[in-house]
Formats: sequence, structure tokens, C-alpha cells
Amino acid sequence: MAAPKAGLFQNNYRGKFMRTVVAKFGGTSLADAAHFRKIKEIVAQDPDRRILVVSAPGKRFPEDIKITDLLIACYEKASRGEAFDAELEGVAGRFGEILSDLGLAFPLEEEIRSLKSRLTENPERDYTVSRGEYLCARIMADYLGFTFVDPAWCVCFTESGEPDAAMTARTMSASLRPLRRAVIAGFYGADENGTIHTFSRGGSDVTGSLAARAVTADLYENWTDVPGLLAADPRIVKNPRTVDYLSYRELRTLSYMGASVLHTDAVLPASDLGIPINIRCTDMPEDNGTMIVRRLPKEKLRRPVTGVAGRRGMSVIQVEKVMVSDGSGFSAIMLDILKKRSLPFEHCLTGIDAITLVIRSDLLEDCREDLTREIREQLHPDFLGIRDHLSMIAVVGERGTDSCDANVQVLDALTRAGVEITTINQGAGKLNLLVGVPEEAYENAVRAVYNVIEAEAAES
Ligand code: ASP
Repeated sequence: MAAPKAGLFQNNYRGKFMRTVVAKFGGTSLADAAHFRKIKEIVAQDPDRRILVVSAPGKRFPEDIKITDLLIACYEKASRGEAFDAELEGVAGRFGEILSDLGLAFPLEEEIRSLKSRLTENPERDYTVSRGEYLCARIMADYLGFTFVDPAWCVCFTESGEPDAAMTARTMSASLRPLRRAVIAGFYGADENGTIHTFSRGGSDVTGSLAARAVTADLYENWTDVPGLLAADPRIVKNPRTVDYLSYRELRTLSYMGASVLHTDAVLPASDLGIPINIRCTDMPEDNGTMIVRRLPKEKLRRPVTGVAGRRGMSVIQVEKVMVSDGSGFSAIMLDILKKRSLPFEHCLTGIDAITLVIRSDLLEDCREDLTREIREQLHPDFLGIRDHLSMIAVVGERGTDSCDANVQVLDALTRAGVEITTINQGAGKLNLLVGVPEEAYENAVRAVYNVIEAEAAES
């Protein structure tokens, strides 16, 4: 059966048609009682925000410790048989402050006592770490008067701790659809024995996306502490533009190349049904943030480049041999040599007499000699070289306009900035132009590319 489209059916509660927005709030958006109040206002502004997904309270100031990190410390100390009172008091204190500031009655002491006895008798990592989200969601549900949903009932994992997407889609749908308004804890779920498992760090984004999929939401909002996805790394480019619209494909490419705004596993569940994802800033709720969609609206296609990202720590393996492309399986043997060592490569470029592979330098650390020996033995190359200390820059855009123009501008800007270009790669899909540069030129190169694409967009 074809997947249903976002928001087309279901969204009716007791016979009334309604839009459904799933709104996920990250740790900094829940750091203190003032943020709980902000969330209440945000929810009141749009009655379609029916399903809330919450992380655990994050940092209030740079030196602060996230609740999740305090819980990890509790578990680590408990599992070594050491005292963990200070860390657990830290957790209790943070939630206690929020509760008293909001004037809520909540059985916090009982919850902390029960966590303490589990930690003492049989410390379990994922169970302990998940308590930040669990408590936060229960408190938020009480505060808003929403129904609390424990993901242990409906976010499914296998016994070995792998997320079970198909089962989750069914159980989460059955749990959430009948509810008018609910708060579900992010980050964890359970296997069929009831054992708690967590996603990797930042995994509440994944819960949000799964919830959006389960209720066929019209929109998945991801509320965080940044104004949206930035068009370049703000540590390199001063005040980069916030991207207003981008496609799932662009987001995936930019995230892979280092831009971070959402957990990488959080795109697929929502994108499967074409549910738009909106990154919003809790402290600037009037801003529209970044909208991530399947297909960009026509007017957004005019800007040739959406963003620039990059990865350092790359190496290039270059193998040359006359007649590489004569059909004797040269490239296949080369890739087989990598496969045997489970060495993933990032990019592969071939020429008449050469094959070039871009690979993460840290992966070569333990196998460099062995690898070059085998390449020599099996392929007898005319030339074999590995160049380290490279960075790859990705210039990403769906390119509604002529991508050639954008590419010329980028390469010209790099040349004028005196940056050596070590590799160039663009697939037929034209989503992504990849340029290799020496590591020491990386920041300069990103700035040069960003400046030229922004100047170009301003003129058009
Ligand atoms: N609280 C967890 C973490 O700090 C999960 C999340 O925030 O999404 O990673």
C-alpha cells in the first residue's frame, strides 16, 4: 500500500476535523520554569499543537550540567559501587526548582527514591538515563493539563537495543491517535520485555519524527535554541544567513557534511510521509525558522546554493595505471580491497587511467601499510599515493537555476582566494558540488565560497 500523505486522514477527534502539529522541545527549551512558561504560551498560540515531545532539561548557562549528563554520572558511579548522591541530588534539585517555581504538586521525592533504589540494587544504563525525559514529560503534562504518554508503551526496540520502526509505527499510532492532547517523553522506548532502551544522544528528535509519522501529522516542529539551519558554520562565517527553506535531500547532505541541527535519524520517519519539518527557536517564537520539505517551492529554487558545509580530516588515495578503464575490473578490485577491511569511502572519482578515493584519515590509521601493500600486489599500479590533511567542502543546493554558473563562481572564488583545489566532484543529480582543499586553507575556502554565493544571490 502506498504511504499516506501528511495530514490527509486521521486528524479527526470525535468526528471533528483538526490539523495536527507535533512539537518537540529540546533540552535548552526546558532548562528552567521560565522556559516551561514559554512553551505554554507557544502551545496556547496554536491549538493544532496537540502532541508534544520533550527532552530532559538542558543547560541554563554554559558551565551548567544537563540532566542527562548528571544521570549518566549517577549510573557510572553506581555501577562502580561508588556513591552517587551528589549527582542524584543535582537531578532532584533541578526538577524541584521547576516544580516549586510553577507551583505544581508532583511526587518527585518518591520518583527519586525509587530511582535511587534501582541504581543501588541493579543499575541499568538506559533506564537511568531515560529518567530525565520521563520526569520532564510527566511534569509538562501536569503543567499543561495534557495526557502523559510513556514511550515505554509505544516506542519499540528489539532486545538487542535496535529501534523497531515498523512496530513503533503501529503501536505509537494506536497510542497517540485517540488522544486529544498529549505529552510524550523523547529519547527512549522499550523492548517486549519492558527493558528500556535509548536512542543515541539527541534522540528526542527521533521520537518527535516517529510521533509525527504515527499520527500522520501536518507538521513536525522542532523547537530548539538556534534560529534554524545556518547556511554556513558560524564559527567560520560571521552571522551566516538562516536558511528559510530546504529539501530533505539538502538537509541530509548538509548534515552529513557537518551542519548540525537535527539528529540524523530524525529525518526519515517524517520525510517518508512528506511531513514538513520546521526548526523553530523557543526564545524567538515569532521567527519562522527553517522549513524542511520534500520539494522546494518554485520561488525558492531560484537561489542556486542553499548552504555550505565541510568536513576536515580527509585523505585521498590515488591509484594510476595505464588502461584502468579497459574493463578488466580495476575499480572493482580496488573497492573490494576496501570492502574486505570494512573501510567505507566518502567519494570515488575515476579517470581514464586513475581512480581516486576520498576516505576519512582516522580510518587509515591502523591499516595504511597493509592497504598499500595489497593495492600494489593486486593492481600493480604505475603510481600509488595517499595525501592526508585535506578537507572536503560541500556546496549544496537543488539548483533550480543553472548549476554551471554557481559552480564557476565557487571555483573562481577559491582560485582568487589562493586556495589549492585538490579534487572536484559533482554527481549528475547536481545537488552537491564537492571540492577538496588542503586542511590549512579550509576556513578561508569556506568564507570565500559563502561570500560569493551570498553576493550572487543578492544580485539575482
Ligand atoms: N536528553 C538526551 C540528550 O541529552 C536526549 C535529547 O536531548 O534528545 O542527549
